[in-house]
Amino acid sequence: MQIIFGVCALLLCLFSSPASAINLPQQRVTAGGIAMIELGASAQAPRASFNSVPVLVVQDSTQWLAVIGIPLAAQPGQATLKVQREGASDASISFQIKPFRYAEQRLKVAPGHVDLVAQDQARYERERAHTAEVMAIFSQALPATLQMQQPASGRASSSFGLRRVFNGQARNPHSGMDIAAPQGAPVLAGASGVVIDTGDYFFNGNTVWLDHGSGLLSMYCHLSTIGVKVGDRVSAGAEIGQVGATGRATGAHLHWSVSLNRAMVDPALLLAAPAQGVKRK
Ligand code: ZN
Repeated sequence: MQIIFGVCALLLCLFSSPASAINLPQQRVTAGGIAMIELGASAQAPRASFNSVPVLVVQDSTQWLAVIGIPLAAQPGQATLKVQREGASDASISFQIKPFRYAEQRLKVAPGHVDLVAQDQARYERERAHTAEVMAIFSQALPATLQMQQPASGRASSSFGLRRVFNGQARNPHSGMDIAAPQGAPVLAGASGVVIDTGDYFFNGNTVWLDHGSGLLSMYCHLSTIGVKVGDRVSAGAEIGQVGATGRATGAHLHWSVSLNRAMVDPALLLAAPAQGVKRK
């Protein structure tokens, strides 16, 4: 009897396993988190948008799933996903963004260190506009996976979302994960993708951006050296540069950000099981 049950369970498993199963991230429906909304089954993939920005839609099991990045600045409460299905009128799906309190860090520094000098401010604003263009890239290819490997070996901080206040002035919250790693240590692609931007930026230093498909991007900052160029295709785990302290960094570490529909989300939500020997706080 047990053997028969075992065989049946196996067959059931074989028949119900989706042809295009994709590894999904963890869901946390908060600012800086990820919401996953079921869109039902249809032959054609529905199109979805959030705040007028196209959203990643993947096939999970027998139905489509919208995977939405929620901006760090989003307020708790009702949010709306717009859905367009082939041959149907546009639909709206509501979901609730739950409250989530990120840590706050208050720092007192010499007054001259809070405001940028005019020249640096102008450079920062140019680079911010450029970054917004990079973050708006939406390629049609679907990501191979929605899980990533930690891009450097070392202790990963849980400082995503940390609100830093310098001399009482709020700065943008920390929009990535910092990984403690020594100068020159390899920086690896979190997942397969295409290099869409490299540069030396005021705050981020030497930086590489990867496009994983359909609005899922990742960014690697403060590198000592950049090992790739725009247009290169990299596989998951390929070396794309080396850890450094370029830009505004107090010491060598990797700053790693993940962007989904132009929203920086907590990279920890996409981390597959940590590699052996990698310690996480
Ligand atoms: Zn950082």
